[in-house]
Amino acid sequence: MKENLTIKGGDKTVKKSFPWPVFDDSDINVITQVAQSGQWGNPDCLGLVEKFEKEFAAYCGSKYAISCVNGSVALRLALIASGVRPGDEVIVPPYTFIATATIVIEANCVPVFVDIEPDTYNLDPSKIEAAITPRTRAIIPVHFAGQACDMDSIMEIARKHDLVVIEDSAHAHGGEYKGKKLGSIGNAGCFSFQSSKNLTAGEGGLVVTDDENMFDMMNSLRNVGRVKNGQWYEHHYIGCNYRITQFQAALLSQQLTRLESQTRLRNENGIYLNTLLEDTEGIKPLTRGHGETLHTYHLYIFRYDKSKFNGMSKRKFSEMLAAEGVPCFMGYPKPIYEQPLFQKKNFMCYAIPDYVDYSNVQCPVAEHACYEEAIWILQHAMLGTKEDMKLFAEVIRKIKSRSGF
Ligand SMILES: *Cc1c(COP(=O)(O)O)cnc(C)c1O
Repeated sequence: MKENLTIKGGDKTVKKSFPWPVFDDSDINVITQVAQSGQWGNPDCLGLVEKFEKEFAAYCGSKYAISCVNGSVALRLALIASGVRPGDEVIVPPYTFIATATIVIEANCVPVFVDIEPDTYNLDPSKIEAAITPRTRAIIPVHFAGQACDMDSIMEIARKHDLVVIEDSAHAHGGEYKGKKLGSIGNAGCFSFQSSKNLTAGEGGLVVTDDENMFDMMNSLRNVGRVKNGQWYEHHYIGCNYRITQFQAALLSQQLTRLESQTRLRNENGIYLNTLLEDTEGIKPLTRGHGETLHTYHLYIFRYDKSKFNGMSKRKFSEMLAAEGVPCFMGYPKPIYEQPLFQKKNFMCYAIPDYVDYSNVQCPVAEHACYEEAIWILQHAMLGTKEDMKLFAEVIRKIKSRSGF
């Protein structure tokens, strides 16, 4: 017999669904207009790609933006345009989406994993310097879940060691650190518009930067190595066709008009849910107060302690939470360096030096987050009402009481 996961053995406590993406006729109209124009792609005849890039750059307070097919390619373009050379080392966190590290391999560089902070799950600046060698060239901090990294400390280390900083802002559209938009603080900031992200057109990506040389290089790389004022079949660099369509650009401009209010709503709901869970032993929301003036809550993450839940595994807890109707997930099963790709060094044609070995890497905080602790509530649920937040907290308390305490 199938195990009954809901508390009362029947109905979910949270009955509402939380739609994502959010759209209305205004989104449908802009797409229809592109369809009717017959100008669907490159060149940017309708000017919608450049229009969106200008809007997003201005929104971030950056000079330039380069759109591209996805967030992974955005990171790849930024890293290559930053001037890395084969064999250079790039510092990345182990608790992130795989692309943060694989784009480093794809640039023939070496990802070096530095552990995260236990209370924010962001790259731990106090552990960065110990990982720096004469080969280190860049740091890719990830504003995980939409919470700002400790950028003052990271930028200071980067200046001291002459390193490039590329902010992986795939969770962080519209988020802020000390009043500055995330992505606009380092040498470049990379965004994803994949379906689950806080700003989406189904797929897509973008890099913001103030660096004109990086901008020109990324512009060329996403456009098959072409250069400004060059001929169509004249190619100067190893690029590819990484361009987005007019449909994506039109939809992104329309969706961007909602981003700030959605972000503020999630931020408020996150702060509220933190207060609701304050007294629940065994549930610790990640702490705020590290400079994030606006948290995007792409994920609302709390740390689960099974010892306060009669030993119930994190997997079981997260399944029960989901069965009650809370959109949630147990997150990454393991830190990136434990993936077969790294353990077996399945680097295929990429020229990673022989000395590289991930079998001895240990990042205990990331490991604990993966195996024991991290539970994610998904961003669309954070667009709910205060009443929804109360229900989420109530479900968590009910599961706890059912677990025997
Ligand atoms: C989604 C994501 C990416 C990659 O974005 P895609 O558009 O899926 O290629 C990179 N980094 C992080 C942290 C992400 O969550």
